[in-house]
Amino acid sequence: MQVPVKPKLKIATTSLAGCFGCHMSFLDIDERLFDLIELAEFDRSPFTDIKHCGPCDIGLIEGGLCNAENVHVLREFRANCKTLVAVGACAINGGLPAQRNHLSIATVLTEIYHTQHGLVGGFIPNDPELPLPLNQVHPIHEVVKIDYFIPGCPPSGEAIWKVLTDLIAGREPDLSHGLMQFD
Ligand code: SF4
Repeated sequence: MQVPVKPKLKIATTSLAGCFGCHMSFLDIDERLFDLIELAEFDRSPFTDIKHCGPCDIGLIEGGLCNAENVHVLREFRANCKTLVAVGACAINGGLPAQRNHLSIATVLTEIYHTQHGLVGGFIPNDPELPLPLNQVHPIHEVVKIDYFIPGCPPSGEAIWKVLTDLIAGREPDLSHGLMQFD
């Protein structure tokens, strides 16, 4: 009799207004990636270059919301992922990109495109293909429900691994003191 093969979990990841540092941290799990791909497969992710998120068990989001496309991608993840995890300071509270929040978007764009040397033409790009910037950078929990948060800039690979393996095993994720970081 053939033993039924347990289907692999599906994981998706994306970077919104982030620097990919949290994804670099994810890769710090090193050879445990081989253990991970025994248990799960990646859907949309910079690791796969798949462009849209299909139905998934776990979604990991790096980065906050600085433009309309970020909001669209976040909603796509929420609609498709059973469990959504905010990874890193930018996703949780806006992080470094939110430093612009004390300035108006008009001031930011004018300052960059009208006063910086070396920018061709010195005009503010307005191609309709470009995503519209939001007036302020927002943390992702302001737009969709987030199930778990992994703090840090970036969180360590150990912390990401702990949360992932807890979720895969069906446990409530539990970051001990040493894995919680806020810088
Ligand atoms: Fe980069 Fe830090 Fe933001 Fe992660 S939390 S995307 S490492 S700036």
